Amino acid sequence: MSDDLANKIAAGEVVERCSSIVKELVENSIDARALNITINLIKGGLEKIQVIDDGDGMDANDAYLAFSRHATSKLIHDDDLFFISTMGFRGEALPSIASVSEVEMRTSDGVSSSYIHIKGGEVLERKEGDLRKGTNISVTNLFYNTPARLKYLKAEATELYNTISLVEKLALAHPNIKFTLTNNEKIVVKTSGSDNLLKTIHEIYGLNVSNKMLEFKASDNDFDIYGYICKPEILKSNRNDLCTFVNDRVVRNGDINRAINDSYYTYKPDGKYPIVVLKINADPTLVDVNIHPTKQDIKLSKINDLYELIYNTFKDVLYNNLLIPNAIKDKSVNIIKDSVIADIVSNMVKSEDKEKVQTELDFVIEEDTDKLELKASDEVLVNKEMKSLVLYLVGLALGTYIIAENDQGIYLIDQHAAQERINYERYMKALKARAWPVTRLLIPIKLELSTSEFTLLKDNMNVLLDRGFLLEEFGVNTFLVKEHPTWILEGHEEESIRKIVDLVLTCKEKFDPVKFNEKMAITLACKMSIKANYRISHAEQEELLKELVLCDNPYNCPHGRPTIIKFSIYDLERMFKRVMN
Ligand code: ZN
Ligand code: ZN
Repeated sequence: MSDDLANKIAAGEVVERCSSIVKELVENSIDARALNITINLIKGGLEKIQVIDDGDGMDANDAYLAFSRHATSKLIHDDDLFFISTMGFRGEALPSIASVSEVEMRTSDGVSSSYIHIKGGEVLERKEGDLRKGTNISVTNLFYNTPARLKYLKAEATELYNTISLVEKLALAHPNIKFTLTNNEKIVVKTSGSDNLLKTIHEIYGLNVSNKMLEFKASDNDFDIYGYICKPEILKSNRNDLCTFVNDRVVRNGDINRAINDSYYTYKPDGKYPIVVLKINADPTLVDVNIHPTKQDIKLSKINDLYELIYNTFKDVLYNNLLIPNAIKDKSVNIIKDSVIADIVSNMVKSEDKEKVQTELDFVIEEDTDKLELKASDEVLVNKEMKSLVLYLVGLALGTYIIAENDQGIYLIDQHAAQERINYERYMKALKARAWPVTRLLIPIKLELSTSEFTLLKDNMNVLLDRGFLLEEFGVNTFLVKEHPTWILEGHEEESIRKIVDLVLTCKEKFDPVKFNEKMAITLACKMSIKANYRISHAEQEELLKELVLCDNPYNCPHGRPTIIKFSIYDLERMFKRVMN
């Protein structure tokens, strides 16, 4: 097999998107200890990808060798071995990229500078260069010699979106590095290299998000975890913002995602995902990075320990923080990503004054960082008082929303959602305790079923027996309920039992007692709670508030929807123009 062919095959594995080329080039810059990395794209990278860094650079000989396959071993020193074990194996990328495109590289190690021009793997020109220190590499004519691959490239907006996500994650992995990403000469991502993770989150997601991030830090024998998770009020509809890093590498791992998702259970609806920046430090021997050529998917030893660590840490953070969402959303700033992409999609890109955009961006970042620090310290004070949250009842509006107040502002509480939460936690506690008194019914409840339902229920009778119900056969397709557990809501006995029987009958998959209890608790909680448009008495409103603030999670119903929202005094004063800003 010729070298050229081998390169093209490798290119197929390593390089398939513009973003995978950016990834390889930027990771080379990071390896070269760059502190400033600029990525310039033309048409989302379809026309040109340029990466400029101020890293170690290369001398002329290494620059040439970098493009020959399997040259890596010549560049590696003994003390790099630890690094390679954490960062994955380097060295295939440049020859692969050069075999399917046109590459121009200027590089300098601070002593000598060189220029090399390669097309389709063939060196067209080598000469002395004029760069100071670092590397400047540009890739054009991507896949010009492999027409079949071209069709895998997507539209500009898609390629750009993938690269933006990638660069954002690399910036979060390396807050000490200053990243700039431009597309068609417009800045899309810009971080300051402040070495402050929260500030980097702010620069990427804007104030609205960074103000709602909660810090965490924990470790066990094998793993250290650190980072930020968002309050459940800001959720995304895809997993894209679950940013996970192992030893500063961007990684993907289903078990880690599951730990995150499970820790938010009932704090968010299913199918919605939080913004998470999770940094994991692990002994490199526990990490297997090479199961996928793009090296993002990883396998970890002791994954169950890591699952527990993440799950418990996140659960504690959510439990210990005040999570009442503000009714008035902060104005979103510098989320230029969406607008840039919208621009391209609607094909309305007007060439803007680059410098003006730059100044505006700098201004926004500087100004909001001050506010950010102020707000963060405020929040710490509030959090400590959390479990003594006091709400004073004002009244009921629309037969649906309880109005309450305290010295922080005005609160609206959804009466159905709130009671659903209270009931849910009551059922879950009773079911977990597994010991409950039973009530013997003086007049048994009669359950008439179809033949198939009757048989099915008979086969699964132990599910009901285990939960404190006693049923006896009574004639054709009929059961008599003689006993039920006391955790069934008084006055709703028959309704509750029918619901539970329905659940047993519709339980298709392999029976999982934990999941069954969970489903039963949610269903009963919903059915037994006051509906909207129903006026409850003043005393009932008081009782509901009192019980809600005692819940483990008073902020969400078991479906993850909010139970309570807040109008802060500041929001109200701003709306009534008592304060002007
Ligand atoms: Zn409900
Ligand atoms: Zn609900």
